[in-house]
Amino acid sequence: MTAQILDGKAIAAGIRNTVKQQVEKLVQCGTTPGLAVVLVGDNPASQVYVRMKEKACDSVGIRSTKHLLPANATQSDLDTLIERLNADPQVHGILVQLPLPAGLDTYQVMRLIDPKKDIDGFHPDNVGRLCTGEGDGFIPCTPAGIMELIRQTQRPLTGAKAVVIGRSNIVGKPIAMLLLQANATVKICHSRSADLAAECQSADVLVSAVGRPGLVRGDWIKPGAIVIDVGTSRTADGSLAGDVCFDEAVKVAGFITPVPGGVGPMTIAMLLANTVIAAERS
Ligand code: NAD
Repeated sequence: MTAQILDGKAIAAGIRNTVKQQVEKLVQCGTTPGLAVVLVGDNPASQVYVRMKEKACDSVGIRSTKHLLPANATQSDLDTLIERLNADPQVHGILVQLPLPAGLDTYQVMRLIDPKKDIDGFHPDNVGRLCTGEGDGFIPCTPAGIMELIRQTQRPLTGAKAVVIGRSNIVGKPIAMLLLQANATVKICHSRSADLAAECQSADVLVSAVGRPGLVRGDWIKPGAIVIDVGTSRTADGSLAGDVCFDEAVKVAGFITPVPGGVGPMTIAMLLANTVIAAERS
């Protein structure tokens, strides 16, 4: 068996096309969707991510503005900036690039962002809406992109067993919630879980969000399973590696995402989609 590749790059391109058309309509009605990107400090990886996001905004006509603060910025500097962006009618979405430098309180910043502009879906209000299934909140971009990839397989999730490896607020917990809402039976595994291999072997849908290259071996995968590899780690030669041993897994899985070209492009596409939703609701 050879798994079908879930081509995140191609699927994301389709979403970006739709977003571009939505932006054109909004502009015709007098609203140019605006995304404010806040970068604190000089973390090189964060700088790369911010550049990618700005480029993506440009490509669909979203007006992005970058707000840079030095690494020694105080909590009050950052809070003041967020309050200013909350009040700016031209800003529909606010994204604070994480991680923040030591000494700044990520939770406080997330709480301060207006939930209606919280296109990353990290404000407790949006997290709560995701957990209650209330709808109308913003769904974090990576989990939203993963659900879209799974939808592309056309496999029903009702009754399916899903295993998520990783329990972060950004990926693990929200994707588990979304899978639960889609009627899968969900198990969340993490660094303290016992017998990870056996847990994974039961999964019709396996989502790995750890950041440890080669963690998930081919014989951990249930034949025919959907395998979503969120992990992105830099290897010694500078290339990107996922958590899953792709060459092994592709022989067992039914569907699999590559790294790069799987979840990554979907995350950016969903960021654009969320910004348009915020502008439409403004
Ligand atoms: P994180 O460090 O916050 O969480 C990692 C999780 O992995 C933790 O919950 C931990 O319990 C678990 N873990 C660690 N070692 C483990 C082990 N040996 N066995 C089982 N579980 C283990 O990371 P995160 O922010 O959730 O990101 C996870 C990975 O996904 C990273 O590689 C990150 O770069 C990548 N990521 C990619 C995208 C994308 O768009 N492609 C987006 C977000 C994160």
